[in-house]
Parts: sequence; C-alpha cells; structure tokens
Amino acid sequence: MNPEFEAKLCSECFHDQGLRLDAALGGFDDPAECPNCHKAEGKKLDLPHIEELAHRFFVRGTVFRTDYGGAPLVQFNQHQETSIDLTPQLAEDVKLFEKTLGIGFFYYGPRLWMVGEVTPLNELLDEATRAAVIQRVVTEYPAVPFKTADVLYRIRLAPQEPGAHHEYDSPPDQFLGQGRLDSSDLPILYGSQDIEVCVHECRTTVDDEAYLATLKPTRDLRLLDLSALLDEDATEFESLDMALHMLFLAARHAYPITREIAKAAKAQGFDGVIYPSYFSFARTGAMPFETVYGISIRRIKELRAHAMSHVVPNIGLFGRPIGDGLLRVDCLNKIILNRVVYDLRFGPVLGQSPFLQDLGEEYPDL
Ligand SMILES: [Zn+2]
Repeated sequence: MNPEFEAKLCSECFHDQGLRLDAALGGFDDPAECPNCHKAEGKKLDLPHIEELAHRFFVRGTVFRTDYGGAPLVQFNQHQETSIDLTPQLAEDVKLFEKTLGIGFFYYGPRLWMVGEVTPLNELLDEATRAAVIQRVVTEYPAVPFKTADVLYRIRLAPQEPGAHHEYDSPPDQFLGQGRLDSSDLPILYGSQDIEVCVHECRTTVDDEAYLATLKPTRDLRLLDLSALLDEDATEFESLDMALHMLFLAARHAYPITREIAKAAKAQGFDGVIYPSYFSFARTGAMPFETVYGISIRRIKELRAHAMSHVVPNIGLFGRPIGDGLLRVDCLNKIILNRVVYDLRFGPVLGQSPFLQDLGEEYPDL
C-alpha cells in the first residue's frame, strides 16, 4: 500500500447505487476496516479519490448538451453550502463529501460561450454572414499532407460485392447529400485512421456483415485540417477555433454548414478535409467541452496537448478517390464485432436547475 494513501471513506459508505458503483471503480483494495462505515469489503478512497468521485458523479455526471456545446449543471467548491435538490439517498451521501472535503454542491450557471454563444458560430448559423466565416476557415486552418505511406480505414456494411474495390469508394449519386460533408454535387469518401471510430460512425451492430478496407493514397494529398487547434488571440466568445470545435461535435443540425465548408475547401483546391469525429468524446472518454475555472482547456496553453488528445480526427476525401485513382485499396478484410465493452459512469437525478429553466424560456425548443 502506498504510504501516502490514507483511507477516509469506502464505496460501502454510500447509499446511492450509482455512486457506490462509481466509487468502487475508482477506489483501492485494502483489507482494513473503513474508518467511516467500519466495513472491510468496500474499495477504499483517500481525499484525492473522493474529490475525483465528486467531480465524476456530480459534474461530469450532469453535463447536458445544447445544440452546440454543453456544460455541467452542478459544480462544487469550498465556499458554498450545498443547495441542489437531491434524492433522500444522495442527501445522506452528500454529507460525507461535505464532511471529508469541506465542499458544497450548487447549480452551475455556465458562461454562455459553453452553450454555443460564440460569435463566429452564430455568424455561421446565419446564412447572411456564413460565407465570410467560411472564407476565414479555409484560409486560417492549416493545410496538411496525407502521404503515400499513410493509411485510411473505411468500413462498409453488407456490400453487394465485398471483394470489389469500387464498393469502398464514395456512395453512388442517389445516396448523396445525407452525411456531414457530402452534397448532391460533392461525393465524399469518409474514413478514419482509428478503426473503432469507423465502427461507431457506421453504427455497426453485432448483426452486421462488415468489411474493412485499408486504403492508401497514390500520391501525397493536400488536406485542410479542421481538427487543428487554432492559435488565436481571442476569448471563447470570439473564437473561430471554438466555433468549429462545437460545429463538428454537433449532431445533424450542423450538416448544412459543414457541407458548405467542404465545398469551399474543394473550391480552394484541397483533396479533402480532416475533421473531429462526432464520436470523439465517446472514443476518448473525455468530458465534453472541458473547462478550468470557466475557461476552455483549448484556450489554455499548458493544456493544449491534453485538449488535442480528446479529438479523434476523421478524413473526408472529395469526389470518388478510388475511381479517380487518388486512393488504392491496399487490403480488404472482414471485420467482426467479437465483444463490445462499455465504460459506464453515473450521475445524479436532479430537480430542474435554474439555468436550464432560464434556457428553456429563452429557447423553448430545448
Ligand atoms: Zn466505508
């Protein structure tokens, strides 16, 4: 046992089932009796563990997503008394956090950029101002090479001819205009260098007959890297970086804009774009739109590498790159979902937070 480790609580101390399970995931094995509940079998928690648990369950566990962005509903600190509505079990459990960490839990009023109030994003949403921002996107984001030694994976579910290379090219005309980047006049071949992201993106299930193509460019391609973190001198409210980050992590309602960005990149002579996968957070387990004291980790120099590790890049290539001879099929394989593993965390069931009530009045669609 680490001599620094001093157990204060254990997973058996808690009444809320989700909190007990979460505490057991994060705790240490130690045969000694718990100093609080006097049971021996629970996973033991020291002060750093208890603080991590409070964050995982009450902050990470209450993140809600708006159309663009998202924020936790609850925060805690050492200055406030607990003021959130809790189930009777959790009301008991919260006393343990209050006692051991000296903290209180309260409804958090996020800074409005966190829920999408970002000027370049609003300008992208408005058709009158969209083109000017897209022009900035295609000039300010970096161009990166996709080299002949690089690999791109693409999955197809139940292709008619699994061994035929054309099955792995961009979809035929009648299926265009449904995805994040493709339009009726711009086919896109979607792929990733991360096979698990391909599995997610294809919504693959255990019943699917799935095939994996390993693709390689026949010459160095030039891609616009929309997954890059822009070095800007701007607050989150003015940040083009934050606007694009939120845009690509949004659901289908963002597609009309992302499709126009793809067209503009094509018009600028790029062969395709790199963009953050919608499944980036599910793939990395990162907290969506993480902040430190209300500042995005993307805006904090020391945390940039950490922020970048939360993003899984996808690649969209313009046209029909296999048919056009830009990509070659290096290998084809059948792919089998042998076992699916979920990484589950838990959060509280709350009364409605004042912030969500305000947001509901301002945005009745929420
Ligand atoms: Zn205990």
